[in-house]
Amino acid sequence: MGFNVAIDGPAGAGKSTIAKAVARELNLIYVDTGAMYRAVALYMLREGVDLADGEKVAGKCPEAAVTIRYEDGVQVVFLNGENVNAFLRTEEVGEAASVISPIPQVRKNMVALQKSLAAESDCIMDGRDIGTCVLPDARLKIYLTASSDVRARRRYDELTAKGESCELDKIKADIEDRDYRDMHREESPLRKADDAIVVDTSDMNAEEAIAAVTGLCRSAR
Ligand code: C5P
Repeated sequence: MGFNVAIDGPAGAGKSTIAKAVARELNLIYVDTGAMYRAVALYMLREGVDLADGEKVAGKCPEAAVTIRYEDGVQVVFLNGENVNAFLRTEEVGEAASVISPIPQVRKNMVALQKSLAAESDCIMDGRDIGTCVLPDARLKIYLTASSDVRARRRYDELTAKGESCELDKIKADIEDRDYRDMHREESPLRKADDAIVVDTSDMNAEEAIAAVTGLCRSAR
């Protein structure tokens, strides 16, 4: 097995920002697993499937073929052959992803895809169950977290920068709901792997958090 780093943690902890920068610095592939669940969620939303109906969602899963390609180090997600990167990073799709991600039929193909990506290349992979399920033998496991206030503020800044209108209180409530769902589901819940190192970014800016994680990766390599 090559050099694999697993980063798990709640929404808005800074996983993708940090993993992307560290990947560039250390010449690793950045595998964004949330984007894969988001692509399945996008399919269900487009098809008008009632997300609360787990059996319906499970039955529709075989119709949503998610594949991944790396173009200049950027992960491109294809849904039935269509590049859907531009549609994945909305609150609606993130919420929908967290509603359907507990369904075993949704997770099965994603986990297989993630394992095969990690087997093919040195990578840094972020998600919720990477250290616990997808890459239990990762060379380094990091549990990245921050207070829900800080995470909500970051999401808010990110969304307003993109021109999406939103309210801080609503974002915080959504983040807490999402954490609750991700941590309390039966299938692969978000939790710190026993051998993961906790990095709390509440009092760090992006550069500091990137430096901290890069340092851990260098020592582990
Ligand atoms: O990280 P991101 O916000 O893109 O993830 C969206 C949702 O996808 C999460 O809230 C979680 O429910 C689900 N997810 C998961 N397992 C992963 C990555 C994401 O269940 N490895």
